Amino acid sequence: MTTQDLSAVQGQENVWQMAQRQLDEVGMLIGLNESLHGFLRQPKRVLEVSVPARMDDGSFRMFTGYRVQHNLSRGPGKGGIRFHPDVTLDEVKALAMWMTWKCALVNIPFGGAKGGVICNPKEMSLQELENLTRRFTTEISIIIGPEKDIPAPDVYTTPQIMAWIMDTFSMQHGYSIPGVVTGKPVSIGGSAGRDKATARGCMYVVDEAMEAHGRTIEGATVAIQGFGNAGMYAAQLMAEQGYKIVAVSDSHGGVANEHGIDVKRLIAHKFETGSVVGFTGGERTDNKEVLEFECDVLVPAALEKVITAENAPRIRAKIVAEAANGPTMPDADDILFDRGIMVLPDILANAGGVTVSYFEWVQDLQANFWEEDEINDQLKRKMTRAFRETYEQAKRHGVSMRKGAYCVAVARVAEATKLRGLYP
Ligand code: GLU
Repeated sequence: MTTQDLSAVQGQENVWQMAQRQLDEVGMLIGLNESLHGFLRQPKRVLEVSVPARMDDGSFRMFTGYRVQHNLSRGPGKGGIRFHPDVTLDEVKALAMWMTWKCALVNIPFGGAKGGVICNPKEMSLQELENLTRRFTTEISIIIGPEKDIPAPDVYTTPQIMAWIMDTFSMQHGYSIPGVVTGKPVSIGGSAGRDKATARGCMYVVDEAMEAHGRTIEGATVAIQGFGNAGMYAAQLMAEQGYKIVAVSDSHGGVANEHGIDVKRLIAHKFETGSVVGFTGGERTDNKEVLEFECDVLVPAALEKVITAENAPRIRAKIVAEAANGPTMPDADDILFDRGIMVLPDILANAGGVTVSYFEWVQDLQANFWEEDEINDQLKRKMTRAFRETYEQAKRHGVSMRKGAYCVAVARVAEATKLRGLYP
């Protein structure tokens, strides 16, 4: 039974209902017109595909995949593809909606989309993954393209997988079309800085939040749940910046050291063994304990719904930066807000990834590539502005940073949707 099936049985709202509820709450706050609200509550387009993929033993297996486009009023669809055994259509719908708000919040000219394939990449060979990716790309090629919808990496999808997507789409058209996907390796039209962009963007908004709290960065303590692309680079970049990383976990377990973890060594250990578990530079801890660790900044950088009404009262961080998508349940959000903990919502805290994806797409279309310094400067500008706009709205309405961010983003999407009107 997947986590979402379990929620349904337990009568909890699933992730899609949670996404819709977040919109509903902000709709009331900004006085969103009822018809527009109804329009924004639903995805524009949902594609479900059956994907036969050849396995190493010569047989083929059927997989189910999705591509959802939530709203395209501000530009082509944009959003990652995740490969995970727990993917559901409702999850992909929620993630597509969050992409719409995320792109609007950082003010890049994209709508929101998302894709997913129900599979366990950890149990598949590289060849099987390639076969699955190429066939999935073919199945969704009817709705993707550089002017239509541009996928990217997400949970368990890598630059290599993006390369296969780019190649498959290009081969079908007879020429190279790098702008069809972002998060590619640099050698085939990827952008400098894209690999670390989610983490870097997250750090920039944490820096802003620290300043808003009148706190200095040097020695401020950080706990990170998740040690994939977002979590690992967040640990590395934040440690370089002067933050002290005191606890880290991945899906196998965690490690903690109140005097600060040697992140360089930890990353080497992760590459060697596939996990942070067994690292000798700290005490063993687990995935759940990391969330409740004594620290200034907590970075949930794994999956959805890990901060709940049950553990929210025990969270000891002053700032929570959502590098993952949807880690905080709405009830937990209220608890954290009442406790004075600032939650930097996913659509702000992890928007660095899609922002540099936008830079990658622009570079691909122009066939003109920028230096990494330039990328990072522009990223900082966009993240800082989005933080300030969010903070201003949150203060103005006396609400959480999530609601503040939604006020900015939903208003932008609603305006674009309204200006374009209905056709036919
Ligand atoms: N998967 C990332 C996200 O959730 C990146 C999406 C993109 O670059 O298009 O924001």
